[in-house]
Amino acid sequence: MGLHSRRFSLIAGPCSIESYEMFREVALEVKKRGATALRGGIYKMRTRTESFQGLGAQAIEIVQTIKKEIQLPFICEITDLRQIECLSEVADVLQVGARNMHNYELLKELGRTKIPVLLKRGFAAYLDEFIAASEYILHEGNPNVILCERGIRTFERSTRNTLDLAAVPYLQKRSGLPVIVDPSHATELRELVIPMCWAAAACGADGIMVEVHPNPALAQSDGKQALTYEDFERMVPTLVRVLEAVEGSSLGDFPFLRNRFTHE
Ligand code: PEP
Ligand code: MN
Repeated sequence: MGLHSRRFSLIAGPCSIESYEMFREVALEVKKRGATALRGGIYKMRTRTESFQGLGAQAIEIVQTIKKEIQLPFICEITDLRQIECLSEVADVLQVGARNMHNYELLKELGRTKIPVLLKRGFAAYLDEFIAASEYILHEGNPNVILCERGIRTFERSTRNTLDLAAVPYLQKRSGLPVIVDPSHATELRELVIPMCWAAAACGADGIMVEVHPNPALAQSDGKQALTYEDFERMVPTLVRVLEAVEGSSLGDFPFLRNRFTHE
C-alpha cells in the first residue's frame, strides 16, 4: 500500500505533556476514539520566556512508560540538534516546528538519520521554500519526510494564522511527499478546529494532527485551541464519513512507519 492510498492518519494529543497522569489519560481517551498516533510536546518553543517550556527529560521517561502501555506511534518536536539522541529513544517521528523550518543545520542532521521527520511550514514560508527546506533532509539520505501545513501569517487577525488548504494538493503534487494538516495551530480557536479537520480530509490530506486536553482552561499551553474529549469524539465520525466520501478512503493505522520508513 502506497503512502497516497489514503490511509489517513489521525494524530492527537496534548500541546505539552504536563504530567504522567495527564498524558496517559489523553493518550487513552484519544486512542479509544480512533487516534492512530500520539503527539505531545516535550521541549516547547514558546514566544515568551515566562511561559511553560515543557517538562524536557522528565517527559521522555513518561513517554517511555506510556508508549509501552498504549502501543501507538509517538510524535514530538525536536527544538535543538542536541536532542536527537534522547528523543529518538521515544519518538517514532520527530517534528520540526514552524519556527525551525529554516534551521538548515537541524534539517541536515535529521537527514543523516533514518527517523521519519514531520516538517512544519514556517509561518511566513512560501510553499516552494517549504519544499526546498524538505530537500535539506532528503538530500542527506533520509527519505522519510512528512510535510505539515499549520497556517501562515496573513493580514487576517481573527485567527492566529490562516490555514492554507490549497497547500495540501500543491505540496503533494510538487514534492511527492505525504502532507498532513494541523488545524489547531492554524486557527487557535477550538470552534474552528473541528470543521478544518473535516476540510483537511476533504482536500486530500494524508492526515491531521490535533491538540486535545482534559481541561483546556487549565492547559499550560495552547488551551484556546485544544479540543476536549467530547469535541474529539464529535469530530471523528464525520471525519470518517468525509474520508469515505472522498476517494473511498478510511481511517488507517500510521502508514508513515511502514514500507519506506525503516526506524533504525
Ligand atoms: C506544535 O505542534 O507543538 C507547535 C509548536 O507547532 P508550530 O511549530 O506549528 O507552531
Ligand atoms: Mn501547541
